[in-house]
Amino acid sequence: MSDFRFQQLIGGQWTDASDGGTWALLNPAHETLIQHVPFGGAEDARAAIDAAHKAFPAWSRQTPYERGDVLFRTADWILARAEALARITTEEAGKPYVEALAEWRSAANYFRWNAEEGKRVYGRTIPARVATRRILVQRQPIGVVATITAWNFPVYNVVRSWAAALAAGCTVVGRPSEYTPRSAMLIAQALHESGAPPGVVNLVNGDPAAVAQVMLDDPRCRKISFTGSTRVGKLLMDGASRTVTRLSLELGGNAPVLILPDVDVGQIAKDAVAWKFRNCGQVCVAPQRFFVHARIVEEFTERVAELTARLTVGDGQDTATHVGPLINARQRDRVEGLVSDAVQRGAQVIVGGQRPAHLERGYFYAPTVIGGVRPDMPLYHEETFGPVLPVLPFDDLQQAIAWANDTEYGLAAFVMTRDLNSAFVLSERLEYGMVCVNDWLPATPEAPFGGVKQSGIGRESGTEGLEDYLETKTVMFAGIS
Ligand code: NAD
Repeated sequence: MSDFRFQQLIGGQWTDASDGGTWALLNPAHETLIQHVPFGGAEDARAAIDAAHKAFPAWSRQTPYERGDVLFRTADWILARAEALARITTEEAGKPYVEALAEWRSAANYFRWNAEEGKRVYGRTIPARVATRRILVQRQPIGVVATITAWNFPVYNVVRSWAAALAAGCTVVGRPSEYTPRSAMLIAQALHESGAPPGVVNLVNGDPAAVAQVMLDDPRCRKISFTGSTRVGKLLMDGASRTVTRLSLELGGNAPVLILPDVDVGQIAKDAVAWKFRNCGQVCVAPQRFFVHARIVEEFTERVAELTARLTVGDGQDTATHVGPLINARQRDRVEGLVSDAVQRGAQVIVGGQRPAHLERGYFYAPTVIGGVRPDMPLYHEETFGPVLPVLPFDDLQQAIAWANDTEYGLAAFVMTRDLNSAFVLSERLEYGMVCVNDWLPATPEAPFGGVKQSGIGRESGTEGLEDYLETKTVMFAGIS
């Protein structure tokens, strides 16, 4: 079994940053140094695009069966080492080990599903209106694809775009978050050691703006798949307008949860706590605004408060831990600021609302339940990305739908009800890219994932996710007799 490599991968070579730069990677649970990793910039990005461009003709002409074999072997490589990989991810991302392990296991599913789906990239023939003409539609890989990804799912965010891009026949240049580069380096290693030819997968770690500029400026880089904040997504759109670089944008969310009075309140409270505090609330599809019917709001609040108070906060490596730290001090301070601002404006903390007293170091914030939140509070209309569960009562379902849709975001929404009619109506009227009815997880390899409004453009995963890495070519034949 090979040693793990924590370097950049460019053209099949493990490299340090061309300018010798490094990044001090910290453990968010202890604020201690994990290690220095290479941290370069524009020159590394250019070298990686060169390598990906050189590798593209041969990779794109391999059969999808051959490409699929590489992806299947990659899935096996990951599963054979999943426990060790998960420990490394927990160390840099802070999430509980079981969550990191689930993320690595799901990575294997993404590789396998795309390995299969790549074999079903069908073209079309179109009946022509002239007897001597034939019209074909071919689907071809779009070329070199760059990815820029967020730290919150350091494995999944990378894998879902790479697996589809590679299955489609594209080559990739990935740039992970500086907070979780080692997880992405391990994915690159998995592909490299599973037979991805040199240059097919490249990974650079470095200054985000400089690397992104190279990706935007170089005409050989045909697409950027971005997962991150709406703020940076807009910056990339500005840049892409000069070069007409194709973009997929997987951006932020502000998910409403509509809980109707017919549910089993105890069960929903349990699920709400489990899904709200997953990854310390740092999930783009995290349930954020809990609209609970007035008939059950008291019982729901009591139960979630009781369950939240029982959560163990600590280092994700510890098996007793339910909730780890936030990724960095900036995120922790932001969440703290949103809660204290809401309290100043009249909201009431029911549980939490502070840093846990027993943890002196680490970017921790206690899982929090809060009432009295109103639409004019930033805690309501901004993406919290932290362990805060606001409860808002409603009487009238139409009003709740209007509140749920009153946001610039449109990623995921959740509906809890046993009433079939309400479930249908809500799934149709909620202006979101994904609606979960009595379900809390919209992400799976076989289904499209993505948002509307300012939550993004394009889809990752599912057939639609693969399509986003393909170009359509129309081929006309004349004079056929
Ligand atoms: P972020 O936008 O700050 O960073 C995302 C990535 O962009 C990082 O790799 C970062 O280094 C890079 N970046 C920063 N500045 C850049 C610039 N000027 N040009 C190019 N790249 C730049 O977001 P974050 O704080 O890392 O992640 C949290 C956000 O990501 C949340 O809004 C969350 O909802 C979103 N997210 C969305 C999805 C989705 O699928 N929709 C999934 C995960 C996270």
